[in-house]
Amino acid sequence: KKGILIIGAGGVSRVATTKCAMNIDTFEKITLASRTIKRCDSIAMDIKSRLGVEIQTAQVDADNVEQLVELIKELNPKVVLNVALPYQDLTIMDACTKCKVDYVDTANYEHPDEAKFEYKEQWARDEQFKEAGIKALLGSGFDPGVTGVFCAYAQQNLFDEINYIDIMDCNAGDHGYPFATNFNPEINLREVSANGRYWEDGKWIETKPLEIRVDHDYPEVGVKPSYLLYHEELESLSKNIKGLKRIRFFMTFGDSYIQHMNCLQNVGMLGIEPVMHKGVEIIPIEFLTTLLPDPASLGPRTVGKTNIGCIIEGLKDGKKKKVYIYNVCDHQECYKETGAQAVSYTTGVPAMIGTKMLYKGIWDGKGVFNIEEFDAKPFMDELMTQGLPWKILELE
Ligand code: NDP
Repeated sequence: KKGILIIGAGGVSRVATTKCAMNIDTFEKITLASRTIKRCDSIAMDIKSRLGVEIQTAQVDADNVEQLVELIKELNPKVVLNVALPYQDLTIMDACTKCKVDYVDTANYEHPDEAKFEYKEQWARDEQFKEAGIKALLGSGFDPGVTGVFCAYAQQNLFDEINYIDIMDCNAGDHGYPFATNFNPEINLREVSANGRYWEDGKWIETKPLEIRVDHDYPEVGVKPSYLLYHEELESLSKNIKGLKRIRFFMTFGDSYIQHMNCLQNVGMLGIEPVMHKGVEIIPIEFLTTLLPDPASLGPRTVGKTNIGCIIEGLKDGKKKKVYIYNVCDHQECYKETGAQAVSYTTGVPAMIGTKMLYKGIWDGKGVFNIEEFDAKPFMDELMTQGLPWKILELE
């Protein structure tokens, strides 16, 4: 086995593939495959001119296990990196077990018809991965991904026991449109318009969409309204962090974003059920996705910074301790380096790093793993040198 196969050719893929090309000494050979080969070719051409690295491209429908198996067998890669959509997680995982190849993704499986995301069906494939003698690394983006690595690093190096975690995700970027989403609109709007949920004392507590708001001061960015959302890493971290009493997730949204989203919701434009329009069946949120700016087109026009991090509270040597671990990323700097804005960048870089951990055998094992189950230190070291440096603040 040699090289990697990257599936999906959107914004995250552009960054992940560029970053893999920058680490070609590790990955040896890179193939980029997606539904629309044109998009793979455009990324490959851009990388060739930026870095002089050759990327092979291929067409594949990742909803089709047989097609995936055929392609993986032909290429015989060491790792498959899935940066298509969450709908393709299970088919790609199944193809990997059939071909006995390691698997990495950045988002947990979501059923196209249910607007519900959870790890259940991916965790259920643990036996299948063990039998095939391979591993799956789930959620190697920023959140999930780096946020889990920050928590694991704190658990392994900074605390004897962690009691409270707040994950704080701020995108203070401005793209100049009244309304646009920074990554796939369908996935983004389904996530934000769903009920909020957090975990406390072993139970899930549900809130109405965007019911809980805090005004949080993000280092190097400033105070931003932040809303409690359910986010998938809460499911795995609430299991994997010992002594945890509460874990929550907050994300910033500007007033204009929320006004537009509420309005679209009220008129039914976020619907995922088909409706008849002039004799043609359409799904409202899919039609809305067609109308909205392509997230990939936001790169050149987005200015400002992101700050994503974890506020972690617990005990060390019998004393209370609280730290804030975070990364700040600048949209324009990301664009200059990779042709994509910071939301794609902060996901694509960790996707490459997770793939590298498996490729080099630094993270090993058999079965299905979430990112916080591994030694965080080598991943934290890579973040420092691959474009996502982090800081730790000791809080009162
Ligand atoms: P995009 O919509 O920009 O790109 C998705 C790509 O997947 C497109 O190239 C699309 O092909 C391809 N694709 C879709 N369906 C298929 C299929 N059946 N077969 C083959 N290829 C397919 O998404 P993003 O780049 O913004 O996001 C990629 C992933 O990253 C998503 O899973 C998203 O949830 C995740 N993400 C994770 C984050 C994190 O921090 N963990 C943050 C942001 C995103 P086509 O060009 O034909 O449409």
